[in-house]
Amino acid sequence: MPELPEIETVKLGIEKTVLGSAIISTKIFRRDLRFPIEENFEKLILKKRVLGVGRRSKYLLFFLSNKTTIVLHLGMSGRINLSRESKNKYKPKKHDHLIISFDNQFLLIYNDPRRFGFIEIIEGDYADYQRFKYIGIEPLSKKFDKQHLWSKIKNSSRSLKNILMDQKVVAGLGNIYVSEALWDCRIKPTRIGKKMSLIECERLVASIKKVLNKAIKFGGTTLKDFRQVGGEVGYFQNKLQVYGKEGQACFRGKCRGAVGKIIISGRSTFYCATCQK
Ligand SMILES: [Zn+2]
Repeated sequence: MPELPEIETVKLGIEKTVLGSAIISTKIFRRDLRFPIEENFEKLILKKRVLGVGRRSKYLLFFLSNKTTIVLHLGMSGRINLSRESKNKYKPKKHDHLIISFDNQFLLIYNDPRRFGFIEIIEGDYADYQRFKYIGIEPLSKKFDKQHLWSKIKNSSRSLKNILMDQKVVAGLGNIYVSEALWDCRIKPTRIGKKMSLIECERLVASIKKVLNKAIKFGGTTLKDFRQVGGEVGYFQNKLQVYGKEGQACFRGKCRGAVGKIIISGRSTFYCATCQK
């Protein structure tokens, strides 16, 4: 499942391509995504201009000129392709479910083989959107600091891995970047929340921001062109230090340890038992 950096990279690609453009038509091939696309979707967005593109957690947001917002969640396997409508008409591919045409000749194509993703419309303030109600703070916002994290974990008997995976505590983190951040600050994923000091929270917060920013920066450089905004993204595997590196020598300079894998709440967790305490 894509995590925050991948979605942020997709957002940047979309922004570059459709910001300021108006929607001239919408084709829907399948409405039965994870949640069905509502019946008046096409009508609500027709002739509306994209005034902004945003992201909240792993949701993409298109702010339209009629004060509605398109929400798009890529689910497990969703991808967005941006294609220029040329003389040769775009031929829909297998699992293309929706195509939005813009007045700058670009097409935004939503493709999703497993259909766990979905598209909805918010009328009015998106902050009131029901699916955002229980989503925690954005990890790259200023509000996400040592005090905030400490307040969430100082009484918790859960492991750090489980706490950080909890979308109510912090938004958009998943299996990959939780492992990466904990390795970066040398704290083991099985550490219990209430055993963390404020200083350690400070280190952890800094590492979360660092690994996310690094991945976004790298994602931006892998976005070679607009045609494969979703398709080119995937995970930035070659930049990962610990995730998926089971059995390999620890990447940290002087550490002689090796990366191990444990299962926490059914999910693989990677860490180095030698340098993460
Ligand atoms: Zn190590």
